[in-house]
Amino acid sequence: MNYSVQFGSVWPSIRVSLLSEQKYSALVNNFSDADRVSRELELLNAVDFVYESQKAARHVQWDSPVERVRGEETASQKAHSEQLSVEQTQTPSSLSASISPNIKCYTFSKGDVSRFPPARPDASGILGYYLLDAASLLPVLALNVQPGDLVLDLCAAPGGKTLALLQTGCCRHLAANDISVSRSNRLRRVLCSYIPKDISADVRITSWDGRNWGKLEGDTYNRVLVDVPCTTDRHSVMDENNNIFSRMRLKERQTLPMLQLQLLLAGLLAARPGGEVVYSTCSLSQLQNEYVVERAVEVAETEYNINVHVEDLSCFRRLFQDTFSFFADCRLGELVLPHLTANFGPMYFCKLRREQ
Ligand code: SAM
Repeated sequence: MNYSVQFGSVWPSIRVSLLSEQKYSALVNNFSDADRVSRELELLNAVDFVYESQKAARHVQWDSPVERVRGEETASQKAHSEQLSVEQTQTPSSLSASISPNIKCYTFSKGDVSRFPPARPDASGILGYYLLDAASLLPVLALNVQPGDLVLDLCAAPGGKTLALLQTGCCRHLAANDISVSRSNRLRRVLCSYIPKDISADVRITSWDGRNWGKLEGDTYNRVLVDVPCTTDRHSVMDENNNIFSRMRLKERQTLPMLQLQLLLAGLLAARPGGEVVYSTCSLSQLQNEYVVERAVEVAETEYNINVHVEDLSCFRRLFQDTFSFFADCRLGELVLPHLTANFGPMYFCKLRREQ
């Protein structure tokens, strides 16, 4: 009832997609034999959507001869490139510059509902890829981690995004936190299966209440990911077990936006001046998405005297329109809508910069 009001005529399509099989993608593990893994995924007819969209943007930006030699664009990619070309002249630097580097993630193209086989371990026992909803990568890409960054993943378990952050190869130190001890242990197991020991030494896993982070380590991090607990809409429509929409969990559901707000504020306080924070949920709810961001910006200013700038992420919508279906009417962030031909999401993400 709530979402039919929020999304109007688009809601039946979102609903039927939520009730249908979710699409997965394969995040290549750069700590395994990544070239071999990529070749194997390409043999399945999957494409690296991060590379493909950046290639399209670069192709337009520089009209590079290298790209032209490589370029075997489809008609739709060509049309996309031409559209980018127009937009590129309007916003010269923003299109391809703001993506975390080194992340390779394979998806099947729109409308192809093939599944990936489970990843196999290599000789040293490290798995070649991690299966996740491709939309989960967008908050990590938006965080745009740079070499030498100190990074905080405030609500990290079970660890898909932590793993993606490590794939950038840029984190000088990564603090991965989750209040739940059992889920933090799951995160440890994921990292054990994907990351060599010398790299995981740079990762600190804790099980603290993220709401206190501003007091524990204020003004510290270059990048903070705040991937908050939410109504997990896709999961909630499919699983009755311990469902957050059940009567028993009414209070918890009602207080979720407050918890989300406190976590986002803690993330902003943990960022150093000039640092960047990405807020994300896997919910469609405006109350948990745009309203939380709006309120956090207000409270940061009035109660903590911190100015926060909401960054424009509309370039993401243009870059990744061949892979995802985006909601057109977000005011602050971007929202991936589940769609039968691209059944990823929901995933809301919004980027904030703590001013000096
Ligand atoms: N980022 C994770 C990933 O990509 O795999 C998913 C995170 S999940 C959406 C939200 C997480 O927030 C849950 O694992 C939950 O245990 C954790 N959480 C809930 N309240 C928290 C709090 N106060 N502080 C830190 N973590 C919290």
